[in-house]
Amino acid sequence: MTQLDRRTFLASAAVVAFDPVTSHWLTSYPENAGAVRIPHLDGELVTDDASLTEAATDYGHLVHNRPRAVLRPGSVNDVVAVVRFANEYGLTVAVRGQGHSTFGQAQADCGVVIDSRTLATIHSIAPDRAVVDTGVQWLDLVRTALADGVAPPVTTDYLGLSVGGTLSAGGIGGASQHHGLIVDNTIELEVVTGEGHLVTCSADHERDLFEAVLGGLGQFAVIVRATVRLEAAPAMARVYTLTYPQVTDLTAAQRTALADGRFDYLEGQLVPTDDDGFAFVLEGGAWFTSELPDDDALVAGLAPSGIDVVDLPFFDWLNRIYETVEQVEALRLPCPWINVFVPDTAVDQIATELLTTLTPADAGGVALLYPTNRSLVSRPQVMVPEGPVFFLLALLRAVSPPDDAEAERLIAENDALYAKVRAVGGTNYPVNALHLSPADWRAHYGDRWPAVRKAKDRYDPRRVLTPGQGIFEEVSRASRTP
Ligand SMILES: Cc1cc2nc3c(=O)[nH]c(=O)nc-3n(C[C@H](O)[C@H](O)[C@H](O)COP(=O)(O)OP(=O)(O)OC[C@H]3O[C@@H](n4cnc5c(N)ncnc54)[C@H](O)[C@@H]3O)c2cc1C
Repeated sequence: MTQLDRRTFLASAAVVAFDPVTSHWLTSYPENAGAVRIPHLDGELVTDDASLTEAATDYGHLVHNRPRAVLRPGSVNDVVAVVRFANEYGLTVAVRGQGHSTFGQAQADCGVVIDSRTLATIHSIAPDRAVVDTGVQWLDLVRTALADGVAPPVTTDYLGLSVGGTLSAGGIGGASQHHGLIVDNTIELEVVTGEGHLVTCSADHERDLFEAVLGGLGQFAVIVRATVRLEAAPAMARVYTLTYPQVTDLTAAQRTALADGRFDYLEGQLVPTDDDGFAFVLEGGAWFTSELPDDDALVAGLAPSGIDVVDLPFFDWLNRIYETVEQVEALRLPCPWINVFVPDTAVDQIATELLTTLTPADAGGVALLYPTNRSLVSRPQVMVPEGPVFFLLALLRAVSPPDDAEAERLIAENDALYAKVRAVGGTNYPVNALHLSPADWRAHYGDRWPAVRKAKDRYDPRRVLTPGQGIFEEVSRASRTP
């Protein structure tokens, strides 16, 4: 996603008042009774068509719920003011980070979308932590931190996501096997609760709020600033691509590599082959600065049928898929993604069954399959399967050329795959194009559901925040226009 176009910012007409009877925002203040002036803003609240259309769009291009206004905050106080205003007048509010959701999760039908790209300052970089605004992209943080020889311990595969959007989901990557998710590497948050209170929270202070918000899908508070962990960064990455004939060979090799933690980074892919099938690839990364990794030790016992080794500057490795994603995004294709967490005990069965029907076209090209250690996933809102190891299975589907019926077919397949995964104890990594009713969400949270509802009642009692997730009430998808 490109950075906010400054010309658009300057050209848009700013809102000055609100009509509570019609729920419409006004760009002039009429002297008639009823309209109320909006609070002072350091940034801008706009209603122009381009801004509303963008806020009703995301990476998935499947759901289009149009807000009535977009806030481009000039300060944290703007977020406080608009959330309080929304409470007073019964409006909904959703933050849109980089809009890389796939099913309207960052949209607010007839509400207000906060475009966090204008809150994008990196406040400080220390050897062990960075303090950043919510709208900072990981790409900018990684680039700035690496200039000081440090980096986040875990990053997502794609760095064009916002810090706030990722912390709302969880943030998994190939280094999660050693460090947990990105939310496990978050030290402190500054948030604006659903009632409009600005609160600093951490594991030692306002812990309930901290734990509600991390992986909290935007339900309890708006993250405005985060302190995230950094560690010393290597200069280089050596990346081993090990190929296997069967998916079960891949998972067996991944289990071996996960068990002894030999790689700094461990992922895996289903890669399309010329005969419309898949090759199965373990991707292992070893970081180094001066001493070269021991190739023999790293591949010992993994028995691949093919092996490829490449050295890359560490930044190039972390940023390896940025350009590809930007190219795909420019095509504006419907992207009915599904990401699920599958217990180790069921992954071979689920993957083998899936491969009896999955084509590379339906998978959207490369699919992801890799394991991680559950013991390092400590934030209670992130629902992961029982057992010491679980796998991420991700079908990054794209419908090309765009076709509504085809998109619906793939979403129905997502629903069916999720049902199968749930039946074997798997969970939803909630960034997907799935039909989820409030009952499905209750099942998703399981025993944790009462705590989730209690946190909603406590921090967002008027149900202002993030309606697009559809967790707490039926959310109309009526305006869906693929
Ligand atoms: C190409 C691509 C690659 C990806 N790779 C990975 C990966 O490797 N690992 C991984 O874990 N995930 C990955 N994801 C999923 C991604 O982490 C989530 O979809 C994430 O939420 C997107 O961040 P965003 O800034 O675009 O958020 P948005 O789509 O803008 O928002 C996502 C949700 O978070 C809420 N939200 C956003 N900002 C805030 C805030 N400041 N406070 C409260 N709520 C907020 C929104 O309202 C919405 O509900 C990928 C997605 C894409 C499209």
